[in-house]
Amino acid sequence: MNTSKSIWKQYKVILPMMSKHYIAYLIGALTLLVTISAQMINPQFIKRGVDQIYQGDFSYIELMQTSLLVVGVALFIFVSRFTWRNFIIRSANRVAAELRDKLFEHILTLDKNFYNTYKVGDVMARVNQDVDFVKLSLGWGFTLFIDAIFSGVFVVGILIWQYPGSYVWMTPMFMMGGILLMLGPWVRKRFRIIQKSYSRICSESQEIFSGIRVIKSFSLENYMHSHFQHAIQGYMDNNLKLVRIWGMMTPLGTFIIGCTTLIVLLLAGQGIIEGSLTPGDISAIFIYISLLTFPVMNANMTINLLQKGAASLDRINEILDKQSEIKEDENPIKIINKGDISIRNLSFAYNKNDSAKDKEQILVLNDISLDVPIGKNIGILGKVGSGKTTLVNLLVRAINTPEKSIFIDGVDINRFDLDTLRINVILVNQLPFLFSDTIINNLKFGVDDASEEQIRNVSLTSAIAQDLPMFPNAMETRIGEKGTALSGGQKQRLALARGLLVNPKILILDDSFSSLDSRTEKSILSRLLNHRKYKTNIIISHKIATLEKCDEIIVLEHGKLSQKGSHEELISQKGLYQYIYSLQQDSPL
Ligand code: ADP
Repeated sequence: MNTSKSIWKQYKVILPMMSKHYIAYLIGALTLLVTISAQMINPQFIKRGVDQIYQGDFSYIELMQTSLLVVGVALFIFVSRFTWRNFIIRSANRVAAELRDKLFEHILTLDKNFYNTYKVGDVMARVNQDVDFVKLSLGWGFTLFIDAIFSGVFVVGILIWQYPGSYVWMTPMFMMGGILLMLGPWVRKRFRIIQKSYSRICSESQEIFSGIRVIKSFSLENYMHSHFQHAIQGYMDNNLKLVRIWGMMTPLGTFIIGCTTLIVLLLAGQGIIEGSLTPGDISAIFIYISLLTFPVMNANMTINLLQKGAASLDRINEILDKQSEIKEDENPIKIINKGDISIRNLSFAYNKNDSAKDKEQILVLNDISLDVPIGKNIGILGKVGSGKTTLVNLLVRAINTPEKSIFIDGVDINRFDLDTLRINVILVNQLPFLFSDTIINNLKFGVDDASEEQIRNVSLTSAIAQDLPMFPNAMETRIGEKGTALSGGQKQRLALARGLLVNPKILILDDSFSSLDSRTEKSILSRLLNHRKYKTNIIISHKIATLEKCDEIIVLEHGKLSQKGSHEELISQKGLYQYIYSLQQDSPL
């Protein structure tokens, strides 16, 4: 059947994880089977007891024996039920932990494209709530499913074997089972919609809380609140659509059990009158029906759990199927000897849309060629949108670099091991990300074994050292989420110190001084160029004063390299550099 096939497809993905715990699942399933079988024995003892009492030919010892057997079976069921729960639910927790870990590890490998497409809140919803639904389905869903199937088969088998006409009064229950199976795909579809709206709630709350300072400074609390209420309303409406139909299922189950009881009462009463059934038979039939009540009443919950698990797995698999466009070479080169960069006819275009079908692209870099031997300081100037950030992102492979377009020491940068590339080429952004930790831990991020002298040197070069006396615990001061306790300039200097500490062959500063005053910037720059004398520095800036000390400056216009030369050469040429220079002479920044 189509339903089971597609559910199977989703669950197949986690079979390798489940198979690691197959012994626990097997023991759990076997004890569950034993529990169900034990439940089938008791009605037989009760039947015997009732018939003994009814016929009056019993001794109290015999009755006591029968009662003790009933209690003994109940005790056995108690122990075996505890055992299967322990094995199955524990295994479900372990599989869920592994799935969460796998998902997390995979998400860390994905590139910027993924993070541009999926919102953080959505990803968090999948890592948290969706994995929880999978856990529920592998634990309780799996258990209820086995319980329903085997209880159903055993009870129906025993009843038809002992009372051949009983299929007549079991028809309503079969119909109920059919209805539930037919509703399965509908539940999964609805549940996917519910999870999508839950992701929206997570994304909105994540965005609102991370932008809370902006929201407060623009007094937009009410606006954002009503925005969020929309998301909650959507989530609630989607849930209600599921509840509307699904809420009917348990009452329908009760009604069907009621109808079955009524039919049994009529037919069994007739059997007693005709002498084909004893009161003990009727007691046993009612107990068997009561044993079916639990699986029938819970059949909707079983289908619900399994379908929700399948929908959640579908969402998880969607992420696991994503692959980073930035691929590691099969035999990557793990060393960069010198650090000479050469860019050859580099052109780059972004996809206009995230959709895989829409292949339309926007050309951002057009036929760039440039050589940057190690030890050179290169400046990059260009208007907003001219492609500066894209160019340096390609140099660190933060985005997928076209083949045979950027080389280091004559080797295509796609051939280098990513870790090697990332410790040799460091990019410091204009808006650096800082962790909610101490200054020193942010500074030493990735260089745990840095010596005190190295830390002192980079703190002095980046001028973060001069601010330390202002902080209550100097280097040990905690800087709050994303460094909220620091000014924009302090954040930039801390990020610069962090980049300097790695001591890369190539350091790229993408407008990294934009929040600094001109004097501080100038002094940092001269210390930096001195500190990194025989290494390469690539500096993006819109301030001529920042760029003028560079050995060579390139000017980007609409993705094309329009000018190249020293400061002196460029101010004497007609072009954007000279124009910006003249503007900044009149009004120095
Ligand atoms: P600059 O750093 O010079 O301001 P960028 O390299 O950031 O320029 O951007 C160059 C162009 O590429 C801009 O038009 C920008 O809108 C576009 N762009 C940047 N990043 C992306 C992206 N991830 N997807 C699509 N277009 C992008």
